[in-house]
Amino acid sequence: MTAYGDAQKYFLQAMMQKGSATDHECDSLLDECFKVSEKNRDQWTLSSFITSVNKQIQPFHLEIRKGNDEDSGQDVYALISVTDHDINHLVIGGNFTKIEIEIFHRAVDLIVSSNTGMVSSTDILNITEELPQKNILKSEIEILITKLVKQNWIGEKDGMVYLTPRSILELEPYIKAELKNEVLYCNICKSMVLKGVNCKRCRSRIHLYCASTYFRGRSMDECKCPVCHDVMTLLPSLPNMDTSRVNGSMEGLTPTINERRKRRR
Ligand SMILES: [Zn+2]
Ligand SMILES: [Zn+2]
Repeated sequence: MTAYGDAQKYFLQAMMQKGSATDHECDSLLDECFKVSEKNRDQWTLSSFITSVNKQIQPFHLEIRKGNDEDSGQDVYALISVTDHDINHLVIGGNFTKIEIEIFHRAVDLIVSSNTGMVSSTDILNITEELPQKNILKSEIEILITKLVKQNWIGEKDGMVYLTPRSILELEPYIKAELKNEVLYCNICKSMVLKGVNCKRCRSRIHLYCASTYFRGRSMDECKCPVCHDVMTLLPSLPNMDTSRVNGSMEGLTPTINERRKRRR
């Protein structure tokens, strides 16, 4: 294997721009980096290549870390800072003002505290009402949401806002430390879960992709919570889920706002 070279530099530069990429995207990017640097990819796998990049960027407290997309379960890599557990460092390079960071901070709290791992963009706009100084306009928050989506910190779909894999990887230590009373862990894979399937009885939550594997081919009344064994209400659109066998009433998870909402001050 070659030492740290042009391919690694190009890859790192691309990841600095993108923030995160799926494993397939990273693999194509890797081919491209070797092509541009006129080197042969040889025996480099994506994993061995990323390990080699991480060795070089570790002194700068940076790491390319692997996680999962909460919707699809697909592997995602993100370039993250491992310096501290503070959201404030996002101000560096992200070109955010102090007030924008404060809004993002509160939006993360709302998302983590919600029952669905999502909040409406209106909920985020309303954060301004809670600020003692009220020194940001709703129109400015709208611009901030667009900026956060563009920089891949949050996703927005049908008016609902959620944390992207990049955010989750970057903010996981912060969420686990500062929002430990709110955060839930998937009862199948044991890792942190924001968007998932809730048990209405015992408050346990499992990732959509864990549920789709765990409950595959089972009928509705066989889809039982792994903790309390109560029948779970599943989304009809679980990824890869064979819903043809699932009968009975299918009730989607209605995004409800922050029943457990609690401010971190
Ligand atoms: Zn899981
Ligand atoms: Zn349960």
